[in-house]
Amino acid sequence: MSRAHLSNIAKPVLLKGMSLEQLRTWCQEAGEPAYRGTQLFDWLYKRGATDPAIMANLPSGFRGWLAENTLLSAGSVVGKSASALEPTLKYLIHLEDGSLVETVSMLEAGRHTVCLSSQVGCNVGCTFCATASMGLVRNLHPGEIIDQLLLVQEDRGIPATNVVFMGMGEPLLNYASVIAAAEIMHHPRGLNIGAQRITISTVGIVPRIKQYTDEQQPYRLAISLNATDDQTRAEIMPLDRKWNLEKLLNAARNHARTSKRAITFEYVLLAGINDSIKDAGRLARLVSNIKCKINLIPYNEAGAIFRKPLQHVIEAFAAQLKEARIPVTIRWSNGVDIAAGCGQLAAPMNLQEDAQVSTDY
Ligand code: SF4
Repeated sequence: MSRAHLSNIAKPVLLKGMSLEQLRTWCQEAGEPAYRGTQLFDWLYKRGATDPAIMANLPSGFRGWLAENTLLSAGSVVGKSASALEPTLKYLIHLEDGSLVETVSMLEAGRHTVCLSSQVGCNVGCTFCATASMGLVRNLHPGEIIDQLLLVQEDRGIPATNVVFMGMGEPLLNYASVIAAAEIMHHPRGLNIGAQRITISTVGIVPRIKQYTDEQQPYRLAISLNATDDQTRAEIMPLDRKWNLEKLLNAARNHARTSKRAITFEYVLLAGINDSIKDAGRLARLVSNIKCKINLIPYNEAGAIFRKPLQHVIEAFAAQLKEARIPVTIRWSNGVDIAAGCGQLAAPMNLQEDAQVSTDY
């Protein structure tokens, strides 16, 4: 296939998000040797290039053609808020179609953790989460996921050490794009981030957890549990009616056994809902035969419905788990003052007019 032919069928082509193999094949179809794809992969991800003009090892004719026929960036930063409490930044990122997503950058204990969005909005409807109010607009393309990371790195001037898929959206409902993006982040010629420093978090899309396990994906898996009985869980997470605790914990157990890696269970503590000592005891029993650790996340008061438990209640809950020898951490969210904490992300709605809520996932 000739370069002219490629120009006719797709213009402009978004290169960001293509894997090494895809870029090599694409270059060959454009009439260039496959190794040009390797060079492009390097420029796009390792060096974060957004302009073909700086790609000094590519022929000038090819660079000119790239400038006319391809897009190297999927988004741009249009807003940034800085926390007064800790070195946390929240970015508002504008995508090519006018959609907006939020991305959070946290510096802590020598780590630079970037929290990525995987969808514009979300239709899962967890009642404690601000993103749920947006409904689902659309899934993100792998390039739009990677660009969040590259834009943050460029702005901060600090490479990411850790990546968490805990921003807007349910990552496992955009499975293919999230895995494609993670592969590029992990690739030694890409961003070279260790697989165990990439965490994919889910509220419990059981068939996708099974797929993730069967495919032996090397990334960390986190599961948002948030309740110890189905009635309470279904009230705050409607998807429990589709995949209840038993199904979810079976999938989690199978993943931990097969991968031989610990699962992280996230547990958002909501005052008076799921924070009793009885809950802590039930939680310990539910996960007792699963290799795991538990992150307790005191609720960030994003709306008026729920309240954060008092400090002594949070500590008593954690102590009960410790007594049962379950590894537990209390995770105080960063950037709460700029609505960048867990469950607080929700891009402005003025450009999100197509938002829809659906339970068809
Ligand atoms: S917690 Fe996650 S899955 Fe639930 S509504 Fe929010 S973004 Fe969606």
